[in-house]
Amino acid sequence: MTEIIDGNEVAAEIRSDLSTAVDQLRAAGVEPCFGTILMSPDPAAETYVSMKQNDCEEVGIETRDVELTTDEPAEKLFAAIDEFNEDPDVHGILVQSPTPEHVDEEAVLERIDPRKDVDGFHPENVGKLVAGTPRFKPCTPHGIQKLLAHTGIDTEGKDAVVVGRSRIVGKPMANLFIRKEEGGNATTTVCHSRTENLAEKTQNADILVVAAGRPEFVDGSMVGDGAVVIDVGINRVDADTEKGYELVGDVAFESAKEKASAITPVPGGVGPMTRAMLLYNVIKAAGQQEDVDVDLP
Ligand code: NAD
Repeated sequence: MTEIIDGNEVAAEIRSDLSTAVDQLRAAGVEPCFGTILMSPDPAAETYVSMKQNDCEEVGIETRDVELTTDEPAEKLFAAIDEFNEDPDVHGILVQSPTPEHVDEEAVLERIDPRKDVDGFHPENVGKLVAGTPRFKPCTPHGIQKLLAHTGIDTEGKDAVVVGRSRIVGKPMANLFIRKEEGGNATTTVCHSRTENLAEKTQNADILVVAAGRPEFVDGSMVGDGAVVIDVGINRVDADTEKGYELVGDVAFESAKEKASAITPVPGGVGPMTRAMLLYNVIKAAGQQEDVDVDLP
């Protein structure tokens, strides 16, 4: 029987533990606070920001919200970041991507105070992660580590194959897998768009993480017997549903399930974990900035 890994269930457990961590901050007189900045041409971006704010409210994190229209100058966005950077009551900052074309996305990442960079994308935080001393683990790969741990899957000594080398998923996932710590110690291969004989690599994986951004790209023929398959992809494909589309992963679920020992569904796998780990980082940031010890799950 293949285990279907329930990301909603694990994320709910983590959120419940995070509420306790918020109580610890409050007991020390600290109100954790998350500042979001929305300036995006993507109509879905507003929904993403409000989902993150709702998640915060659910565990007791306050939110501040700045909204800019896409025709405003980049300076206004930078000024909003500076204001959050300088406000001691704001512990975590997120600028929802994508930003408009006239805004230099790299400059946005570098503008955020690294101590408040709860996505973990500032070059200083990327450097710390690669050096082996992460300040904030990026949310999606961190969520995958937690999902594996909760499912009782040990990564030590395993062959992990990551398909994708993006800044937000593939690269940090590989960096976490090779760390000398629990949830790491895996022998890790990173595959990407120029990889030759991809199936040969993926078939060899004990743990296969797929973040290629291509609907149902990895099918059962590319999965080794008994592998653990983590599907990061979220793709909207046309479908005969009320909304006119459905969400599918980067893995062809039914055929991969035939081979895997455990697999994440889409939706309900990695997605909820990414959201939970953002809350984790905001609470961690608040504890660090206010010098309060908090028990993180
Ligand atoms: P991206 O487009 O930045 O990166 C895709 C990566 O896949 C690239 O590094 C590329 O080299 C690799 N790739 C593309 N074609 C390939 C091929 N033929 N063979 C091997 N590798 C190939 O995407 P991303 O931001 O890393 O996101 C990947 C997917 O995960 C998307 O579907 C995205 O929506 C989803 N995502 C989900 C979550 C979540 O919380 N579940 C979080 C982030 C991203």
